[in-house]
Formats: sequence, structure tokens, C-alpha cells
Amino acid sequence: MTPNTFEALPLAAPIQRALSESKYTTPSPIQAQAIPHLLKGRDLLGCAQTGTGKTAAFSLPILQELHADPRPLRPKSPRVLVLTPTRELATQVGKSLETYGKYIKIKHALVYGGVGQRPQVNAMRSGVDVLVACPGRLLDLIDQGHINLSSVDFFVLDEVDRMLDMGFQRDVQRIVALLPKKRQSLFFSATLAPAMVNLAHTILVDPVTVSIAPETTTAEKVEQRVCFIERENKRALLLKLLGEQKPGELTIVFSRTKHGSDKLARMISKDGIAAEAIHGNRSQPQRDKTLARFREGKIPVLVATDVAARGVDVKAVTLVVNFDLPNEPEAYVHRIGRTGRAGATGHAASFCCPDERDYLRDIEKLIGNPLTVDDDQDWHLASLAADHLRHGSRSNGVAKVKQGNRSGGGRPSGRSGGRPASSGGSSGGGAGGGGNRRRRRGPRRASA
Ligand code: AMP
Repeated sequence: MTPNTFEALPLAAPIQRALSESKYTTPSPIQAQAIPHLLKGRDLLGCAQTGTGKTAAFSLPILQELHADPRPLRPKSPRVLVLTPTRELATQVGKSLETYGKYIKIKHALVYGGVGQRPQVNAMRSGVDVLVACPGRLLDLIDQGHINLSSVDFFVLDEVDRMLDMGFQRDVQRIVALLPKKRQSLFFSATLAPAMVNLAHTILVDPVTVSIAPETTTAEKVEQRVCFIERENKRALLLKLLGEQKPGELTIVFSRTKHGSDKLARMISKDGIAAEAIHGNRSQPQRDKTLARFREGKIPVLVATDVAARGVDVKAVTLVVNFDLPNEPEAYVHRIGRTGRAGATGHAASFCCPDERDYLRDIEKLIGNPLTVDDDQDWHLASLAADHLRHGSRSNGVAKVKQGNRSGGGRPSGRSGGRPASSGGSSGGGAGGGGNRRRRRGPRRASA
């Protein structure tokens, strides 16, 4: 039986108190399925993307263990190691430990690159219970003798698919080789491709497998649509969608390149909507500052590259715009997972111009469904939509049809209107045509 309340889980009172203060009442499916096994000391292979509550699924058993069996801190030698692909995700895990561990005496440290190492070295010198680290800097500090992994008895690998995408496989293997053989290990990935499962089996012993179907979970919570459009019209459509967001609603815009995200942020700001970019060329303090401002709603639009957006967990994100389609289809699933967090409904609009059709085809193949075509937007490129329908999607699924409500008040075009790919053609405007229809809601600026 899987527990349907947190009280039903054998978690200590101080943890229960922190959970109820965070207004968590019901464990998410991954929490309900994983936590009982983890509390019994089992290894775990978890297939779940961000937004499913997987951070709490591993943080709560860690906190329980540290609370039930407190030990003196040992310099340089953490008891728990959480490995994450990016600094943002590491920070996020650190925040979760602080939130859920508010009433427990634990110490944690974050170790990642892009910032000076001295504070990290100092934190390790005085000892921590939990170390949350990215592979590169962790190995650096190990090589310099500042960290020793021989006391780790709880090991978490988070977002392993991303870690491998980022080329960390050898680093991960080196780190695993430094851990004691006797330990509890958890392995989380959004996808379980054969390479991932093979790697998992070199790390885990007799694991419980918990799979929270990522694509369907995402598809249910996030209304996804594709906007066929000429590249030169993308900016106008973006401004229009941003202008249609309600006050307090946050948007993340994805760009494939660092340079492109800077340019977009400037363009959006010039249009009167505060926007900032985060990407690998910005320093960690700059990225933290931008994220904090975004979280507080001071900047309603964040422009990001894939790597920088990992671990960004902001509940008020209601819209994700894929200004460029990602060239790896898995990145699409991660991107749209930035909205529709923790049960909320989100929207994702993906712009597809003629030279991105192959990327769209790969995405549709991965998620097993064609995306709903938004032929209601002013720059709808009917010829491309028709071409994609004829040759494009290799999947057999039927596109989801959203019920239209084109007259005022409701959601903008593609959110309420849109047609399945199978209806073909444009409702007007023609190839590349448009910018001349009546606008349903007053964007901050008509952007044709
Ligand atoms: P994660 O998948 O770990 O990135 O978590 C996604 C979001 O869900 C975070 O904002 C968490 O604070 C939130 N969350 C996790 N578990 C629960 C829960 N059981 N009830 C409500 N919110 C949750």
C-alpha cells in the first residue's frame, strides 16, 4: 500500500512539522512510491523528471536518517553526497534540505564551479552532513585533498540523463569509484535509455525501480502547442504572447545559444517588459540574482539556455516559449517541465520555422504525439504546417484538440484555440501571412 498522507510515513516529528508548514499534505506519486523503500535502506532507480517532487522523495529519507542517527561532523568527509549536473539544481536541492530540515540539526554545503573555491573549502574543512555537488568542481576539490568521500553512506545521482548529455559520464564513474562499497544509492533520470540503465546497474545493488511516466505526466499538466512560423516573425509572435500574459504570470523563453538569449532579453526589455537572460557565460552571483528577481516577480520574463534553466523551480511560471526548438528532443521535455509545476497547469508554445522541422519530428517521436498546431496565431505558416502533416510526424497519436474560445476574456489564441495537425491548413492568413488580424486582447504593444 502506498501512503496517501505524509503522516502515514514514518518520518520524525520535526520533518512532519516542516512539511506541514510548507503546506504539503499529500505525497506526490514518486514520494509515495519511493520513500517507504528508501527508509528501509533500499537502492532506487527512479525515472522521473523535475516537477514530480523527486527532490523531496530523496531529501526526506536523507533527513530522517540524519535525525535518527546523528553523528559528529568529520572534517572534509560528508555522510551524504548528492550529485547534480548544474549549479542551479544543486542550489535547489540545498534549498529543499533547508526547507524540510528546518527543525533538524544538519549542515550541508554546496560545491560547484564558476565561483571561488575558498568558501567551499572552508565549509568542508569544518565538516558537513550533506554535500551537494556538481561533478567537475567536486573532483577538483577531491584532487586537492579538500574532500574525502570515504564516509559517504548515502549517495544520490540526480538528473543523470542530463549529466551524461553534459559529458560527465567519466567524472561520475571516477566519483563512484571513490565511494565506499557499502552505501545506499539512488539514481534519478528523466529517461531510462539503455545506456542509462547499464550505468545504473554498475552503481546500484538490487534497486527498487520507480517510474513516473515523464511524458504523459507532462502532457497532462502542460498544454503544448507548436507555432509554425518564418524565423523573421518569431520575435513579433514572442512579444505578442508575452503581452498577453496576466500580471504575476511568469514566462521562461528558451533560446539555443547564449548570444541569442542575450539578444532576446534586450529586445523584450526594449518592448517594455522586464527580461533578463541566464546562461553559462554569466557569473554565478549574476545568475543567482537574476533567478531571485524572477522568483519574486520583479522580472516577469527569463530568457535561458537549456543548461542554465536546469533546476529552475518557480511555481508561478505559466508559460514556456521555445523560441528555438532544442536539437535534442529530451531537452524539450525538460524545458516544458519548467511550467505545470506541482499540479498547476502550464502552457508551452514552441516556435518552429522551416529549418527546424526535423527537430519537431524528433520531439513528437519522443513524446509519442504530434503537438497541437496553433493555426490561430497571426504569423501561422500554413505551408509548413501542411508539409509537416504530410511528411512530418512519424508518430501515430492523434493531436489533442483544445476547445476554442476565441472571443475575449479567456486565454490567448493557441491556449484556447488551435487545431489538431490533422485539420490541416490555415484559418486564414496563408503562408507566412498575417499580422493583420484583429487582436483579441490588448498586448502592451501591437507587435506586427
Ligand atoms: P521537484 O520535482 O523536486 O523539482 O519538485 C517540484 C515542486 O513541487 C517543488 O516546488 C516542490 O516544492 C513541490 N512539491 C514537492 N512535493 C510536494 C508535495 N508533496 N506537495 C506539494 N508540493 C510539492
